[in-house]
Amino acid sequence: MSGLVRMRGWLAARRRFQFVLTLVMVTTLTAACGALLMLPNSVLPKIRAVVPGSDSALASASDPQLPGLRRIMDSYGKIVAEPVSTGAGRIGIVLGHPGRVSDVELLSGELAAATLAVSALWGTDWSQAPVVVVASSPAEFAALTNSTGLVPAEVAAATVSDAFHPGARPTGQRVVFGSEAGQRLGPDGMRAVLRHELTHVATRAVTVDGSPQWMLEGFAEYAAHRGMQRPFAEVAPTLTTRARAGDLPADFPADALFDPAGGQAAYAYEQAWAACAFLADQYGDPALVNLYRLMASGPKDRAAVEGIVRTALNAEYPDLIARWRVWIGSRAAEGI
Ligand SMILES: [Zn+2]
Repeated sequence: MSGLVRMRGWLAARRRFQFVLTLVMVTTLTAACGALLMLPNSVLPKIRAVVPGSDSALASASDPQLPGLRRIMDSYGKIVAEPVSTGAGRIGIVLGHPGRVSDVELLSGELAAATLAVSALWGTDWSQAPVVVVASSPAEFAALTNSTGLVPAEVAAATVSDAFHPGARPTGQRVVFGSEAGQRLGPDGMRAVLRHELTHVATRAVTVDGSPQWMLEGFAEYAAHRGMQRPFAEVAPTLTTRARAGDLPADFPADALFDPAGGQAAYAYEQAWAACAFLADQYGDPALVNLYRLMASGPKDRAAVEGIVRTALNAEYPDLIARWRVWIGSRAAEGI
């Protein structure tokens, strides 16, 4: 395909679109996890794959879901596996097929840095041995994400767990990239999506479904772009345009705004990122992480959110929103 020679502006817009759909899908799949692959992993043989690196290194990647993944992937062709040392003695792994070996290599090249980046923000109390899979087709993507139907081709990546019980460490966690993700997102987009998804993986054990979306998605977005030196206007183009026209958000984005059917999902993700970027800027990363833990404990009504803000940040919610609006206005004006 001649995708590499397309116009830059078109490509940028397309990538953004792709990214947003990715995030929306992650929300859906994360909320749906709990059913799933209940394979007798213990009786299946250890994964054997075509390994560009060393076959013996693969044995170190001992995630119990690997035999089950191999069983799914085998029917879609030969398997390529790239083990990655992610630090602290942990081994992550990137799996795919020969037709997507460039995506496998790109992701395996990013995996250690992405794992470290997530741990630097969130802490090291998570597996730190991610399992990342690149699907070769929409059908394989659906199979790997436990989706009941075919996933739209625009969806780039998703995070799933085979089993999850609040308070316990989740099992069978993996990040799955769609077959066209690499071509559509480009290296920068893949890097950001990988970090976004790994943040969901790291935070899953303390994240209860139904918690405020602005906190869950905003935190993953903040982690994805943290330290990347990307301008405000590039991370949040819609928010920037609207803010420059005097149209500032009245509140942190409501859960309904994240619904892809509503047509506002892109704007919702930008606002969620801006909420967490603002909180980190004003209170520091540890305070943002603490706030995540408090907000992610389950569904919250307005009074509960206001109570957490008062306790954790020593601030009144309306004042916080007012300061956030001023902050957005100045960042959007500067564009940095
Ligand atoms: Zn997400």
